[in-house]
Amino acid sequence: MNDSVSMPARPADIPSVDRVLRLPGLQPLLDQYGRTPATAALRRLLDTLRARAVAGQLARQAITDDALCEALAAQLARDSQPRLRAVFNLTGTVLHTNLGRALLPDSAVQAVVRAMTAPANLEFDLGTGGRGDRDDLVDDLLCELTGAEAATVVNNNAAAVLLMLNTLAQRREVVVSRGELVEIGGAFRIPDVMQRAGAKLVEIGTTNRTHPHDYGNAIGARTALLMKVHCSNYEITGFTRSVEVAEVVRIAQPHGLPVVVDLGSGTLCDLTQWGLPQETTVRETIAAGADLVTFSGDKLLGGPQAGLIVGRADLIAKIKKNPLKRALRVGKLTLAALEPVLRLYRDPETLAQSLPTLRLLTRPAGDIAALAERLQPGLQSSLGDGWQVSAVPMVSQIGSGAMPGGQLASFGLVIGPRDAGRRTGRRLQQLEAALRTLPRPVIGRVAEDVLWLDLRCLEPVDEAAFADQWPALAEALRA
Ligand SMILES: *Cc1c(COP(=O)(O)O)cnc(C)c1O
Repeated sequence: MNDSVSMPARPADIPSVDRVLRLPGLQPLLDQYGRTPATAALRRLLDTLRARAVAGQLARQAITDDALCEALAAQLARDSQPRLRAVFNLTGTVLHTNLGRALLPDSAVQAVVRAMTAPANLEFDLGTGGRGDRDDLVDDLLCELTGAEAATVVNNNAAAVLLMLNTLAQRREVVVSRGELVEIGGAFRIPDVMQRAGAKLVEIGTTNRTHPHDYGNAIGARTALLMKVHCSNYEITGFTRSVEVAEVVRIAQPHGLPVVVDLGSGTLCDLTQWGLPQETTVRETIAAGADLVTFSGDKLLGGPQAGLIVGRADLIAKIKKNPLKRALRVGKLTLAALEPVLRLYRDPETLAQSLPTLRLLTRPAGDIAALAERLQPGLQSSLGDGWQVSAVPMVSQIGSGAMPGGQLASFGLVIGPRDAGRRTGRRLQQLEAALRTLPRPVIGRVAEDVLWLDLRCLEPVDEAAFADQWPALAEALRA
């Protein structure tokens, strides 16, 4: 190598923005990204290079015309990537809150596209030509599927609980068992929501045992509601006692007090018909006498993010009159997606295929095993001798607080460094990081000194796209 090339570049060697902008190699970038953004990115690039030159750490090869055009192209490509990107969820948790929970069926996607691109009768009654109510789009479906008298929709289940408590229990008391004071990930805690709703929490029973007389003894002049909360993400086992909804209803009735239930995930049909763990349905909760039930749209229901409130017509009417309802209402895209998802529930025979969440939850372990066996040799040869890739059985979870004890037999790939010894942790971190740099990032889970890729959520349509990324993975690991 000759000296002028191997010598570090000096700050004065960095070309001006104007000179680089005139390079013929740069013109395609100006056309593609626009002159203003490209110029701004170029200015940032030259500033970075100048700082490195000042530190004596810039090679002359980095500021040739070709190198500058290439670096700018890379920077513009990085900058223009959307922040919200598709990833592969191989965590083993199907309804992963951090990865966006439920995936929508095609009918819902089409409905969202229509609602985004054409005016729609969101709050317009096509029969009378008068003003409509956006809840009308789904409330009869919700009533049909749950047996409730009335229904309304808000932004998420946290909003549903807040709105329900604020409407029915402001400046009054709400009785809840100590065994049900749940915290959901992401800062939803029943006592905190209660406080923000302006209601006073009255805790009864103990962590492991609450009896019917605990409810009875807590009822007083200031009591507004008796509330039950689904223990979404934990189980209390051993010496336990809790009181069923129907029993709480019997206690509340002589006092004329409503019983409300935050069902969390809230499934609309019996999941045991597909071999999934038993979970009380919204219909059963209404039938047990609950006056209001709240649940999420994007957990087991398999729809868009939403909070659904179903139950007694007079209570729903009150909730809809609360000014907070306006602040917590859903947008048209949510309603557009929710309606077709609810329609799928009218045909339970096809639901396990038509609803992506249920399709993923009921995927036969044998199919996932076959997929793992198909993928293992290719991934092993891409990663080379430094890594051991094996196809092994594993256990997936439903996620989002649905059935914490319920586990689904699955299959996947485990990857570990061969002979890494003390560096195992570091190398696994590098592997995890490399998987995240892929064009469609792959999210797995590190445990027991290996990386686990649960293949339950890798559906056949995505198999090729997943495998196509392995050369890039090998490349990223070498970098
Ligand atoms: C998940 C959950 C919530 C919060 O629901 P979001 O739709 O995430 O707002 C509230 N309560 C229970 C019991 C839950 O499981």
